[in-house]
Amino acid sequence: LVPRMRPFTSTIFAEITALAVRTGAINLGQGFPDTDGPQLILDEATRAINGGANQYPPGPGVPELRAAVAEHQKRFYGLDVDADSEVLVTAGATEAIAATILALCEAGDEVVTFEPYYDSYAASIALAGARRRTVRLRHPSFTVDADELRAAFSERTRVVLLNSPHNPTGKVFSRAELELIAQLAVEHDAIVVTDEVYEHLVFDDLKHIPMSTLPGMADRTVTISSAGKTFSVTGWKIGWLHGRPELVAAARAVKQFLTFVSGGPLQPAVAAALGLGDEFYTELAGSMQRKRDLLVDGLRAAGLDVFPTSGTYFVITDAAALGFDDGIELCQQLPDLIGVAAVPVSVFCDDKESTKSLVRFAYCKRDEVLREAAERLSRLRH
Ligand code: PMP
Ligand code: GLN
Repeated sequence: LVPRMRPFTSTIFAEITALAVRTGAINLGQGFPDTDGPQLILDEATRAINGGANQYPPGPGVPELRAAVAEHQKRFYGLDVDADSEVLVTAGATEAIAATILALCEAGDEVVTFEPYYDSYAASIALAGARRRTVRLRHPSFTVDADELRAAFSERTRVVLLNSPHNPTGKVFSRAELELIAQLAVEHDAIVVTDEVYEHLVFDDLKHIPMSTLPGMADRTVTISSAGKTFSVTGWKIGWLHGRPELVAAARAVKQFLTFVSGGPLQPAVAAALGLGDEFYTELAGSMQRKRDLLVDGLRAAGLDVFPTSGTYFVITDAAALGFDDGIELCQQLPDLIGVAAVPVSVFCDDKESTKSLVRFAYCKRDEVLREAAERLSRLRH
């Protein structure tokens, strides 16, 4: 393995899920729902498979999905996106991120990103031979420090890789924070790559603000999302990106040699699901917010410090409150100790010291599973 990929030999999600399976623990580690998404998407996929849509789809994605992505961006955010030249369907958001970073960055270039960062960001930046410059989102509030952000930019900055709503903190970036990021991107002539896979999982009457809706930003933003979280089909790996035609063409050039195409019969099903009525989207967020509350109450009752989460599937806790100083050690023991699996946060950080005792839990599970997890967590104290 080449040296720059040696830190990435196995992902924490694979490790913790394997541990959860081996021990029979409730898996609040890897973020995936334990129920299926809307019946419509399942029926449409079955229909497409039985209808013979089983060969290579077109390189940029099936036309109905590209049109549905453009319509979705218009409907929710008022964005004008051309389905033919400005949308690319990818193998999940993961491929969209990798293809975009590989298309825009080379050795010596810098990518500004925020930590804790989603694990594939660091790996994609390393694949490109580029360098990450991370800005810390510090608990308990996870706000962006303007000076630290400014200091992360240099004449080598090519890309700002942003994620809002943010995994693993559950932070929803504020308009003021996005404006500062946008201003610095313009000053340094950088492209903003924005991962919005949790765009429909925002709580407490907050609003998701896509970076490309900020004045002047549509032209220098690549927006990424995915069907996995919105339609509870994380195993389908249907994602997409959109941006101005040159940027999409650049990502497409790389994408065609990563996977070429994927998910032929799943693409029309995702297209149909994107057109679901507003009540689907409202209920999705409402139901996840209730699950958030259920797990947060359980974690607090168990004696952990719990930090605010206003979106995604995730909440961060500090286990130091219970006398556990090392989150990695705790997550290795937790399944055997109480039958619950979780993920240490320091693996998503360059600053491992100040995040050492932080642990992430996922609440995208059935209510009875969350209640049982809360019950098990209450044994941690004893
Ligand atoms: N970005 C973030 C922030 C994620 O949490 C995930 C995991 N769902 C992904 C990207 C990957 O998305 P996909 O499964 O569509 O590749
Ligand atoms: N996005 C999911 C999470 O953060 C995991 C995806 C994966 O396993 N790579 O838990």
